[in-house]
Amino acid sequence: MRRFKKLLIFFVSIAFVFSCSTEDPNDPANGGVNRTANLKTLGASATDLLSDVNFTSMNIEIVYVEGNKPAEEAISNFSNFLKQRTYKPDGIRITQRSVSSSGQAPFDIDEIVEIEKKERTAYNAGDEIAVWIYFADGSSEKDSNDKFVLGSAFRNTSMVIYEKTIKEFSSRNGGTSRATIEAATLNHEFGHLFGLVDLGTEPVSDHEDSENQGHCITDGCLMKASIEFGSGVVDVINGTGIPELDQLCIDDLQSVGGK
Ligand SMILES: [Zn+2]
Ligand SMILES: [Zn+2]
Repeated sequence: MRRFKKLLIFFVSIAFVFSCSTEDPNDPANGGVNRTANLKTLGASATDLLSDVNFTSMNIEIVYVEGNKPAEEAISNFSNFLKQRTYKPDGIRITQRSVSSSGQAPFDIDEIVEIEKKERTAYNAGDEIAVWIYFADGSSEKDSNDKFVLGSAFRNTSMVIYEKTIKEFSSRNGGTSRATIEAATLNHEFGHLFGLVDLGTEPVSDHEDSENQGHCITDGCLMKASIEFGSGVVDVINGTGIPELDQLCIDDLQSVGGK
């Protein structure tokens, strides 16, 4: 059972936020910025994120609560993952800035949506698509004793990473690198923004896990989330570390404009 201790419970949830927004783009409170393109449902912008048809560059705004900055190594891995899968000839820019705590932890997804309203500054502009990632100083309200939500993609260009949970998990399982867990979570959640599996991107072959909506059945695939109900684990210490997409998931991405 020693090995069991080394296994990482990789529990990721998907939250659907139905925000067929009533936001008025002309409302002066929005600073004249039209946010509607970034307020769609999860998976709705898969092609726009993957291909260069409508957007030739990507602007990723990482907002972290003070003391919850992701590791450089995680960002570098995440950046490589995006370059591997997307066509963005004009580049992928990742900016980071810190904000103070919302004081609302633990979070339900509606609270994260409220925080995004306040703390997001990057929206699609011209041929640049924007993504917002929040590193929260708390955990998800969905956590239980044996299930930990590490991250959640909740709209077409938005996700939250529960950094406090990742830090705790990393220190409890000595040796599990925080950077590795962060990178695995970032890449997995971005897989959902890409519409995987069958979340906006129609699968080329039948590989959706019938018991875990939005996830892949292939053992070892980045989008495997046996996880979702705490029954599964991803070993990020042994093997190659951060899990990668299997060919079935890559086929899906290629079918809608990805690399
Ligand atoms: Zn997932
Ligand atoms: Zn897969």
